[in-house]
Amino acid sequence: MTKPFFPIRDLWKARHRIQPIVGSTALHYSEPLSELTNTPVYLKLEQSHPTGSFKIRGAANKMLSLSAQEQEKGVTTFSTGNHGIAVAYVAKEIGIPCTVCISNRVPKQKVDRLKKLKAEVIVTGNSQDQAALHCKQLEVQSGMTVIPPFDDQAVIAGQGTIGLELMEQCPDLQQAIIPLSGGGLLSGISYALKSIDESIRVTGVSMEKSAVMHESLKTGQPVAMEEEETLADSLLGGIGDPNVHTFAMTRELLDEAILVSEQSIAKGMLYMLDHHKMAVEGAAASGIGFLLKEAKRGKGPIVVIVTGNNVDPAIIEGLIKQR
Ligand SMILES: *Cc1c(COP(=O)(O)O)cnc(C)c1O
Repeated sequence: MTKPFFPIRDLWKARHRIQPIVGSTALHYSEPLSELTNTPVYLKLEQSHPTGSFKIRGAANKMLSLSAQEQEKGVTTFSTGNHGIAVAYVAKEIGIPCTVCISNRVPKQKVDRLKKLKAEVIVTGNSQDQAALHCKQLEVQSGMTVIPPFDDQAVIAGQGTIGLELMEQCPDLQQAIIPLSGGGLLSGISYALKSIDESIRVTGVSMEKSAVMHESLKTGQPVAMEEEETLADSLLGGIGDPNVHTFAMTRELLDEAILVSEQSIAKGMLYMLDHHKMAVEGAAASGIGFLLKEAKRGKGPIVVIVTGNNVDPAIIEGLIKQR
């Protein structure tokens, strides 16, 4: 690695800090995938957190790093997906106020989930951009802290705790396959792994539709793209312009950036259901979908990060009916 992005010790500090509210997750040996690829394959089960995704790690590290005064004023976000759920959950656990700004397009079931976690929900305008603007106003006017979903050192270090666990659970690890959107997850995990052994290969997997980080890496700078509908909805969204941390980190730490089709993602979801009896969301199945096409993947152990399970059962039902 050419330069340290932040002290590597911060990863261990994050691990220590979040331990009281974020448990480690299991590393599950996948017999069928190991047979298929002819090398050991393991699944890191990040969907098994109480919030259903790994985002709890970064959110917890960021929120527990705030000063007592900042915590008292509270936190805010405009995410209604896995990040929003994580922020609301952590706020409830540590007993600080949390406000989620949403547009009037957000479905009721998502709003209800946030309210159950005792978050205050403010409905504002009819686009994600307006919700984001309201968040910013809360920061300026009431001193609340906006918790970023990926482009923040404390968030990246929090996601990096996955890498530390992986080294303990599988010290022979050769390859990591990681779903890639804003790049907080990939930056954190690869920073941890490569600071321990630079030869560990990191593959970032995005969906073919609206893969903003993938396109930005190709172009050499952050780009903006229209959002298209995809099974991997948790991988949608821009990477921020300016992007301060994750673009540079991803560019340096990634060995290979891959795109997977909607069909591959669907196959990955059905494979997890059939062979491992696990329901996972499209984003989380993207790495499985990729591996299914790459039977000659080379030397393992390979770890696939299974990132979340926030999926409407009706979507899985549709996939089952279509096959
Ligand atoms: C956020 C998320 C990702 C991508 O993480 P980034 O840090 O944005 O790259 C992947 N899978 C799931 C389920 C997510 O919620």
